[in-house]
Amino acid sequence: MNHQNVILSPGLYFVATPIGTARDITLRALDVLASADVLAAEDTRSLRKLMEIHGVPLGERRIIAYHDHSGAGARAKLLEAIAAGKSVAYASEAGMPLIADPGYDLSRAASEAGHKVTCAPGASAAATALTLAGLPSDAFFFAGFLPNASGARRKRLDELREVPGTLIFYESPKRVAASVADMAAVLGNRPAAMARELTKKFEEVRRAPLAELAAGLEENPVKGEIVLLVDRAQEAEVSEGDLESDLQAALQGNSVKDAAGIVAEMHGLPRRKVYQLALQLAKGG
Ligand code: SAM
Repeated sequence: MNHQNVILSPGLYFVATPIGTARDITLRALDVLASADVLAAEDTRSLRKLMEIHGVPLGERRIIAYHDHSGAGARAKLLEAIAAGKSVAYASEAGMPLIADPGYDLSRAASEAGHKVTCAPGASAAATALTLAGLPSDAFFFAGFLPNASGARRKRLDELREVPGTLIFYESPKRVAASVADMAAVLGNRPAAMARELTKKFEEVRRAPLAELAAGLEENPVKGEIVLLVDRAQEAEVSEGDLESDLQAALQGNSVKDAAGIVAEMHGLPRRKVYQLALQLAKGG
């Protein structure tokens, strides 16, 4: 038996579940699942199955279905149970609750009500992919899923251009080739990685610049669950003098906006910064 029955004080216990391999669950998560008075889950069937695999008895308890769209009524029931002195465990379908998964409304409501809110943490695809991607991990930005439509997706990518850290996205296999192509177009040919089926039989990590990654995905479509990671924009080493003379040249025959775009691309610099300088030069400053 891997779990222990423990006494849990009243409160909300978020429980992380594996992102693939069932044995990636923690012993503490099993203890919480074995001992909580009330069990709630994003997907009741997958929690029941996970508990079966690990020999955690359900006993008299039933698993309550809850996600943030379940609404205030479902949330109120869980909060009432905590107020009545019960421990409530909430498990995601896979990985950490709240990471591109439900739980935010529940977490906020429970803490606003003054209840204990804690977590038995575990695997998350974002953190696992970052560990494997071969990209800088000193700072990163989890951007979740991009919009499905290309126009909205490119707009969102444009908003993320200047984030000073590795960008992390979740993506479906259906859209991954189109998304990586849009990333190459909007962000430039940055170093990137695609991590697929993490902790599972067909785990794979491709590390390549965006354009190469896009071409590979176009040729060989992939299946399974996917995380995309993209390096931050590289601040090229360019002197102010060089920048100014390149801008002066580009301003001959181009609008300020276009000149800034050309020079920003030339040096791999953020468009906005170059635009300010181009404006000054155009005004004769
Ligand atoms: N809460 C989860 C977490 O902490 O990672 C994420 C849930 S989100 C609804 C599901 C998405 O996460 C998938 O579409 C995929 O992009 C990513 N994902 C989940 N498991 C994965 C795995 N084993 N390998 C790669 N990506 C995974």
